[in-house]
Amino acid sequence: MTTLLGLDLRGRRVLVAGGGPVAARRAAALVADGAVVTVVAPHVCEDLRDLVVAGSVRWEPRDVAEHDVDGAWLVQAATDDPRANAELCRWAERRRVWSVNAGEAGAGSARTPATTTHAGLVVGVLSQDGSPDPARAAAVRDALATQLTCGPLDLRPRRRADGVGVGRVVLVGGGPGAEDLMTVRGRRALSEADVVVTDRLGPTGLLAALPRDVEVVDVGKTPGLHAVPQEEINRILVEQAQRGRTVVRLKGGDPFVYGRGGEEVQACRAHGIPVEVVPGVSSALSGPGLAGIPLTHRGTVGSVHVAHGHRALETTAVACVVERSATLVLLMGVSLLAEHVDQLLAAGADPGTPAAVVERASLPDQRVTTAPLGGLVRRCLEVGVAAPAVVVVGDVAAPGLLEAPA
Ligand code: SAH
Repeated sequence: MTTLLGLDLRGRRVLVAGGGPVAARRAAALVADGAVVTVVAPHVCEDLRDLVVAGSVRWEPRDVAEHDVDGAWLVQAATDDPRANAELCRWAERRRVWSVNAGEAGAGSARTPATTTHAGLVVGVLSQDGSPDPARAAAVRDALATQLTCGPLDLRPRRRADGVGVGRVVLVGGGPGAEDLMTVRGRRALSEADVVVTDRLGPTGLLAALPRDVEVVDVGKTPGLHAVPQEEINRILVEQAQRGRTVVRLKGGDPFVYGRGGEEVQACRAHGIPVEVVPGVSSALSGPGLAGIPLTHRGTVGSVHVAHGHRALETTAVACVVERSATLVLLMGVSLLAEHVDQLLAAGADPGTPAAVVERASLPDQRVTTAPLGGLVRRCLEVGVAAPAVVVVGDVAAPGLLEAPA
């Protein structure tokens, strides 16, 4: 039988016998856990040498001897000689010191579990008895790690009450909307959230799977309708964090691309609240991509200009279309589309310039409308284009650009 136990190795001596990559990995892990590591081996590999040079481990350049076990709490037998490893484990046994035999898991008195760390928890996997199967333990560990990272698990620490210490704010870019276009780091942050302050865009479908006691605050801005003002959002973030909570600010796309993430970071910093940014897949880049439109393409165009469509276009945005020098991507560009097209044509843009509008990119009802610039507005009216949509103007939007040459 096997007892899975958490050892506190901080400040305790551990003997590592062996100088190869296995010994190096073990030594590095032990150092990370705070152990006082002595490596005994005639030669050491580069990784171990780095640890020695950094002063993280002490190295005795010779074969391991029985007296090396004295004073150690734990012994790692990781030489490339099975007989030496077995002998070291016997020496340890005699002194009642736990030993791990790296070459033959069953031969020492202790075994190293396959581990993964999430939200302040260490999860360890170990075969139960006689015939250890490290590969299986590692495979199960990997599966658990995937679940812990992406599954609907609640990884929040169980706090005694609100108001203990200050919490933190994580600005999470949720991507364009499809759940599997959110980053693994973003998913992890969501699983640690006590409160989620969410927008209308992004992977809002994930919210339904949150544990019931996670508070969801919807500050979504529907175009034209009254939205929660930014100052109020900032206030909510700060106030929730001050109650000791982990606050996830979930946004569509990337927090720093028309996401007002910068202002939220400032608000948190102004109140001394730790704030972290998890970048997301911006609709500016992924919307065209999901529609099969490359934003740059060798031989066609080499730069991209991303702008918002709230007002008349700035001269730099107009110039890149007129000069065909960059692909123009417009976010929030549906309501003023006709004005922008007029502005581009009046400035001399070729009415034949390819253009496309990608609505609800990555969602099941994603739709792509393509037309030359001169006919874009009529086409969009015909099909009833609506926000959220990304407008792309430039030669990369030409239908068939990526078709295999005939
Ligand atoms: N931070 C976001 C942008 C927020 S501004 C990002 O990086 O994507 C809101 C605008 O983003 C919308 O008006 C629309 O232009 C665009 N947008 C967001 N999600 C979209 C989607 N799934 N499909 C098309 N456009 C989208």
